Amino acid sequence: MSQHVWDHPEPLTVASAPVPEYGSGSLADLLPTLAAGMDVPDLTASLGELSPADRNCVFLIDGLGWEQLKANPDEAPFMSSLLGSSRGGTGRPLTAGYPATTATSLASIGTGLPPGAHGLPGYTVRNPETGELMNQLRWIPWTKPGTWQPYPTVFQLADAAGVHTAQVSAPQFQNTPLTKIALSGGTFHGRLTGEERMDKAAEQLAAGDRSLVYTYYAEVDGKGHRFGMDSDAWRGQLMYVDRLVQRLAEQLPPRAALYVTADHGMIDVPFDEEHRIDFDADWELRAGVALLGGEGRARHVYAVPGAESDVLTCWREVLGEQFWVASRDEAIAAGWFGPHIDERVYARIGDVVAAARDDVLIIASEREPKESAMVGNHGSMTPAEQHVPLLEVRS
Ligand SMILES: [Zn+2]
Repeated sequence: MSQHVWDHPEPLTVASAPVPEYGSGSLADLLPTLAAGMDVPDLTASLGELSPADRNCVFLIDGLGWEQLKANPDEAPFMSSLLGSSRGGTGRPLTAGYPATTATSLASIGTGLPPGAHGLPGYTVRNPETGELMNQLRWIPWTKPGTWQPYPTVFQLADAAGVHTAQVSAPQFQNTPLTKIALSGGTFHGRLTGEERMDKAAEQLAAGDRSLVYTYYAEVDGKGHRFGMDSDAWRGQLMYVDRLVQRLAEQLPPRAALYVTADHGMIDVPFDEEHRIDFDADWELRAGVALLGGEGRARHVYAVPGAESDVLTCWREVLGEQFWVASRDEAIAAGWFGPHIDERVYARIGDVVAAARDDVLIIASEREPKESAMVGNHGSMTPAEQHVPLLEVRS
């Protein structure tokens, strides 16, 4: 039997899905709150409990969920000391936003907007202009970035308001479309190693009377996908990134706050047919489907015109209680993508949206062989994927 990965006594309805806390406790609320605290105009401090600092640094650890951090205190002694009040810290979880995936979350954190507004509502989504799937992490096929996501980033707003603004990440991300639409504003500093990034972030934080600095580390997610979280490779990454956080914390200049967060958590999924439902081998799931988007735990299903309600009925029947299965309008009305959907974003969302509730995947062994072989996965609304840390260190 597949596992319910969290307690859900409620009956399975679209409305029973635990929707991200947009506007009060989501990843998209973090940067507007920090920037508003530095007097950047037109932004709301929607995470009201954070006290303002003149210098703010956000360290985003790809794939490190709140639950995984709490479950591994020995590998992460420094970050564990920043967890909730019982351990003396002020750490708390934020919700990542739906789907809990890197492209979506980076756009949410950088723009301060929910997915329904910034318009990156999945790993792959249909481009209504071309009718083709677009991979939003790799930006394939190329699509004009400023048309796809037209809003300014919080970094651009802060830069325009005279705040010293910088991003410190891997050099290969400097000129990518995703960086452009989610993270641009101020200066990008490419550094290869984690240590160099921490040192550069601390230097940039000290470089302005008011400053906003973002830095990033990828490999906790990478090792989780490849080996799963119950692996020495994953635990080794957690130990390494814990030392990076401490290194940065120890270099904070005066009047500074460091916030450690993540873009999503993760779930390991067993390798058998019960936990990995293969779209490419399942004629019932394929019937009437023109395009399969999203990823294993957060699918966008685009129907052949006229087949929308048949596809919805069929997916509900086949998936039973293992997934929340919603029509596009039901998912939007339930607030999965935020309180509001921009018109240009509407048709990027699937005619049917399927979010995993148990430790299961809808893989596609032929069209997505690499993704279908991953041990660790993420995307849906369970706490293991949605809850990301918000840890705070002050100088
Ligand atoms: Zn990932």
